[in-house]
Amino acid sequence: MKTIIYTCPYVPAEWIAAHGLRPSRIILSAVSSAGSITRAEGVCPYVRAFIDEATTEKRACGVVMTTVCDQMRRAFDILVRKCNLPVFLMNVPNTWQSVAAQKLYLDELKRLGRFLIQLAGKSFSQDKLSQVMLEYDTVRACILAARGHLTSRQYAEVIAAFGRDGPGTRPDNAEGARPPIAGVPLAIVGGPLMKQSFDIFDIVEQSGGRIVLDATETGERGMCAPFDRRRFRDDPLMELANAYFGGIQDASRRPNNELYKWLDHELVSRGVRGIIFHRYLWCDMWHAELWRLKDWVDLPVLDIDIGGDNETYQHRTPNRIRAFLEMLQ
Ligand code: SF4
Repeated sequence: MKTIIYTCPYVPAEWIAAHGLRPSRIILSAVSSAGSITRAEGVCPYVRAFIDEATTEKRACGVVMTTVCDQMRRAFDILVRKCNLPVFLMNVPNTWQSVAAQKLYLDELKRLGRFLIQLAGKSFSQDKLSQVMLEYDTVRACILAARGHLTSRQYAEVIAAFGRDGPGTRPDNAEGARPPIAGVPLAIVGGPLMKQSFDIFDIVEQSGGRIVLDATETGERGMCAPFDRRRFRDDPLMELANAYFGGIQDASRRPNNELYKWLDHELVSRGVRGIIFHRYLWCDMWHAELWRLKDWVDLPVLDIDIGGDNETYQHRTPNRIRAFLEMLQ
């Protein structure tokens, strides 16, 4: 089956799968500035890694990007010139409260559908879309229910693997809940994680903490809302748009108060005592959010800025996390 690669959480996997193609929300690896085709200065390391991945990817038949972030929008211009694969830029409005913004998102899904059909995708019935949505929604619920059965790293990896591979595998809860790991409960908040950043979950546990809320884009925060099973049978496309465009809270939204409402609920219900703020150097959007979060939250916040330089990251990050946890213990 032909694969479509993307990273943005506002691209619904179900829409691609219903067209008979394989959606893969890829997990990126950091690239060194020496090995990259883009310059390092001023470019978010995540965008740099995405450009490298898309230009070297061998399995995919197409790439989907969105306008959620300005740097990704500029990366689209680079990929149109340098990537051998067809690339689609989906307009995802940052404003979300008006009917016009919701209609634009729906129209963009239909335009994406026409792009997918050009890449050997197939037309499908409403029932087919409902069936795919049911399959994804069932596995998504199963993953969320598995949180107590897995280590924080396993949980984050299961969510990321679901985005990359689809609903084929689901977490095995047969062994029952693990005994809770003692440690200071922390949240990790920020944009998407790259493969190397998953080490943070282990570093936290080795330092006497545990991550009880993964509010990164690649974690729970980047998952769409559960579908309303009654509504999606009548109008599955509308329900898909509601769950993604209306259900994923992100710093890019204008206004983004819903992100803080969501965080407020999750931080309190999980007894979080400190926040690791994960952001990339040159990412203005999450850098700006750091100051707002610090003003808003009554918890200590550790700012981890990732420059894409693996060696610096490996030396600096564990020490800073250890010191943060010593302060909280
Ligand atoms: S981390 Fe920031 S700059 Fe990088 S892709 Fe995400 S929003 Fe854009």
